[in-house]
Amino acid sequence: QVPLKPGRSLMDWIRLTKSGKDLTGLKGRLIEVTEDELAKHNKKEDCWICIRGFVYNVTPYMEYHPGGEDELMKAAGTDGTDLFDQVHRWVNYESMLKECLVGRMAVKPIAAPKEISSTLSEEKKQLNGILPEKKVVGASFKDLTPSYDWFQTDSLITLVIYTKQKDMNAELVIVDCEDKRLRGEIIVGDHSYLVEVDLDHAVQEDMAVHIAEKVGKVEIILKKKDNVHWKMLGQPLESHNTFIKRTDRGLFYRKCKLVSKTEVTHDTKLLCLMLPKSTHLHVPTGQHVYLKQIIAGTEVVKPYTPVLPFLPLDFKEPLSHDGAHIYLMIKIYSCGLFTQALDHLQIGDYISVSNPEGNFKKSQVQTLEDLFLLAAGTGFTPMVKLLNFALTEVSCLRKVKLIFFNKTEDDILWRNQLEQLALKDERFDVQFILSQPTKDWVGKQGKISSSLLSEFVKRSRKDSKVLICICGPTPFTEQGVQYLKDLGYSQEEIHAFTA
Ligand code: FAD
Ligand code: NAD
Repeated sequence: QVPLKPGRSLMDWIRLTKSGKDLTGLKGRLIEVTEDELAKHNKKEDCWICIRGFVYNVTPYMEYHPGGEDELMKAAGTDGTDLFDQVHRWVNYESMLKECLVGRMAVKPIAAPKEISSTLSEEKKQLNGILPEKKVVGASFKDLTPSYDWFQTDSLITLVIYTKQKDMNAELVIVDCEDKRLRGEIIVGDHSYLVEVDLDHAVQEDMAVHIAEKVGKVEIILKKKDNVHWKMLGQPLESHNTFIKRTDRGLFYRKCKLVSKTEVTHDTKLLCLMLPKSTHLHVPTGQHVYLKQIIAGTEVVKPYTPVLPFLPLDFKEPLSHDGAHIYLMIKIYSCGLFTQALDHLQIGDYISVSNPEGNFKKSQVQTLEDLFLLAAGTGFTPMVKLLNFALTEVSCLRKVKLIFFNKTEDDILWRNQLEQLALKDERFDVQFILSQPTKDWVGKQGKISSSLLSEFVKRSRKDSKVLICICGPTPFTEQGVQYLKDLGYSQEEIHAFTA
């Protein structure tokens, strides 16, 4: 992120798009754009970018881009799909840039291989400027592709997915059934398998998901609304029975009900969202979800990291959570676009919540002896489940240390709970460091620095297996990673939480 000039916030951009101003220079006309034409618009004062086959004139957006003009210029006059997906595929550009739409890329037929056919079939056409669709082929891959089957009794429909994975668990299965639309997604490494059908008949709201973890069989059990015989499971939808890279699958959202909102500090709240009865979703440790709201007619999406309702003090048993609720600890910024809108939600209102994302893997923690958590402000959120997981399930763990950076004492999230946990569990230790303390503060002061890190991040024994997790404002995280590397920690020993 770069500092934006005054008057260039997202809200200012939304206002500009609603002003009726001609942002493309084409007076509302949509045109077909050739690759040559696209390439001509490669300057800051005249910049077109293609995303998924649609061309946008992003010249008026330059000064509003949170990542800065130079980042946007990297894709000037070209297909920016890959770059966009790498940086923020969750941003709803269709909605944000709808007034900048110039048109579609022109279709360019490519020569068909002679030995197969001389006539051009639909599949052999390549959309000019669109990245070729990533199709997965190959015999060994096919063997790994999950498959499904279904059967029925008078009252039930059971969909069985054979994942061909031996270590299936609830976090890898995401099911939604709304009206007659059933969507079941299975995560297999960095791939996703999807069953997506418009069911033959209506089903009841409650649904059950059974997972046979060792054999990798997932059963989704639906209750028929009427006891009629189904001729088929339903009509396949567009992405039905596909097995593709997770990052190529669009984000799916379901509406969740806000059931409670409690104060954590003067500006931070704990929101409890209830998933629909017909959703099965567990957000894994270290992952985030996206929330989506329509603000002034534009879809706005922001990431948030689910936490636990509180910090459990007894780590003998894994915390049994019902899976029906998602807890979010969110700081409300006085001039924040999204958090102001969130703060205006009333109990009983609905908000769209996406599938989980993130590149943290529990296996990074499983064999650890020392875990250091460097958190700044709401960068504390991914540490909550991580702390719980490490103290509950990592038997070789000797020490967990949270180094928590805040501006003032009043900003410290869950201070009491953290102090109690430190008293209760000798493996856990917490250190608060304030950047803007009052004169009464007797604890540590300052911002992240090499000397602070060398003082607090120390292995419990020489060569112990260590992981240092870091999360907070981007400069905090970037500086922290650099200091840690300078102190001799390797890339594998550092995990930075980012979008
Ligand atoms: P914005 O309108 O974006 O602005 C927020 C504040 O920052 C304002 O004071 C604004 O003036 C300032 N600001 C914004 N952009 C700039 C800029 N470019 N330069 C200088 N100042 C700027 N937040 C949580 O509270 N809890 C979480 O669990 C959480 N999880 C996250 C997980 C991930 C992976 C990431 C990337 C972020 C997470 N965040 C979390 C932050 C969250 O996504 C939002 O960024 C945050 O809620 C602010 O949104 P907003 O629209 O209200 O604020
Ligand atoms: P804040 O402004 O209250 O600052 C908290 C502390 O961060 C400060 O006391 C200081 O020690 C440090 N800090 C702030 N700016 C710094 C800078 N420029 N250089 C070095 N250190 C700095 O923090 P906040 O408002 O709670 O913001 C939390 C941030 O964490 C947000 O940017 C949010 O997007 C990010 N976050 C990221 C994730 C993720 O997974 N990537 C999750 C949650 C929060």
